[in-house]
Amino acid sequence: MHENIEVDVVVAGAGACGVMAALRASEDPDVVVAVLEKSMAEGCNAGVSSGSLAAGGTRFQEAAGIDDSARRHADDILAASGDERHRDLVDALCAVAADYVHWIADDLGYPMDVGTDMARKGMSVPRLHADPARAGGSPLMGHLRRILSDRPNVALLDEAPVTGLRVEDGTVVGVCGRQGGNELVVSADLTVLATDGFAGNRALMQEFCAELGDPFHGGVSTATGDAMGWLRPLGADLRNMGACLRHGQVTLHGTRVNPALPWLGAVLVNRDGERFVDEQAHGYSGLAAVVQSQPAERAVMIWDDEAQQTAQHSEMMRESERAGALRSAPDVASLAGALRIDPAVLAFSLRPLPGRRALVGPFHFAWLTHGVLATQGGAAVDAQGRVLRTDGSPIAGLRAGGGVAVGLAGTDSAGYSSGNGLLSAFGMGWIIGNGISSGR
Ligand SMILES: Cc1cc2nc3c(=O)[nH]c(=O)nc-3n(C[C@H](O)[C@H](O)[C@H](O)COP(=O)(O)OP(=O)(O)OC[C@H]3O[C@@H](n4cnc5c(N)ncnc54)[C@H](O)[C@@H]3O)c2cc1C
Repeated sequence: MHENIEVDVVVAGAGACGVMAALRASEDPDVVVAVLEKSMAEGCNAGVSSGSLAAGGTRFQEAAGIDDSARRHADDILAASGDERHRDLVDALCAVAADYVHWIADDLGYPMDVGTDMARKGMSVPRLHADPARAGGSPLMGHLRRILSDRPNVALLDEAPVTGLRVEDGTVVGVCGRQGGNELVVSADLTVLATDGFAGNRALMQEFCAELGDPFHGGVSTATGDAMGWLRPLGADLRNMGACLRHGQVTLHGTRVNPALPWLGAVLVNRDGERFVDEQAHGYSGLAAVVQSQPAERAVMIWDDEAQQTAQHSEMMRESERAGALRSAPDVASLAGALRIDPAVLAFSLRPLPGRRALVGPFHFAWLTHGVLATQGGAAVDAQGRVLRTDGSPIAGLRAGGGVAVGLAGTDSAGYSSGNGLLSAFGMGWIIGNGISSGR
């Protein structure tokens, strides 16, 4: 059976970008929005994320005495990525980040705080924001989706995958989809693509990211890059396709340990007990390639009670604990025994680097490997989220954000700054949605 739906705006994907775009567009009660979501049961990457929102110049930072701004945030991102080609995009996203963090906290009533305990490589001041309980992205996305589904001018259709774009004379005029046995034909003045990247699609990962090998995939299986199949025939300019949000602190159980651990004194050694890296020299995305280059593509991270006191306050550590990925040993001898490493070699590796503190037993440890959480390559977009062809012209009737669009890491995964993923998604959703509700 066919069902024809006519709306002002259709959004493909009810993750971070899609929900934010729909929430902001539907602030105008005269704008009718349909959101088609492939599967809420499987969830979105935002829902399995740590829910850490990078924003510079928030009132939370001000209250904590942290001097930050959108400019400083953008400069940090660009220093890590070296991707000057996308400076306008980075600037536009950083410029709105504090606004939506305040809106989520003050207008939508979701508790937020700045994580002064969330040190990250390249982040010149603390600027990750999360709920005080560090519950991760799931409750945040649940909160936002509930508000969205209560809006009278919004239809949120679940188990309703978009199957293609409807294009007339080069203009996108809506989408095709299905729900249950029904074929959906949706007509809309504007179509927003928010279906995320392709880390869950083996063929696309082989095509664009083969050098990552066969990493653990720590994202949701709905990230199959469906939009790539729709955008390529339209001549969209696909950029930075080899870059990913990688992670070098994925446990062998598939969970992650707190990325702040290196800044709390944690030490990494390989299977042979050799310390192969300055743990603070890389962000977790860049660290992935270093771990990948070690024997058996694994390493063990070791920390002590002092580090554990701070690191344990995260959903990642709670999940790792539940999975049985975190272990402990009272002293170096028993640690070496548990790791099957020569005690003398291990003791040598545990010596502090210059300027760092020495770890003191008892020790905590976890075996780690590298993983990919999400892709960072995608369609070129301008600062309003318009999708660009290779000749620079925008595709009429279409907007895109989040993992569908080019990310902020540059050409290499090592250029990823913590918080870039949700910045691209919530930030572009905010920009696109505001543009609709203000009639631009
Ligand atoms: C484990 C993990 C931790 C992370 N932690 C952080 C963090 O703390 N901070 C940060 O900034 N970033 C983090 N990220 C990255 C961040 O989650 C993503 O960059 C972000 O969620 C991308 O937003 P999005 O809206 O593009 O996609 P998503 O949030 O994944 O939403 C996309 C939605 O589209 C749906 N969809 C897919 N195909 C279709 C289709 N054909 N039709 C309809 N719907 C479809 C999906 O089901 C999904 O619901 C993390 C990622 C992972 C995996």
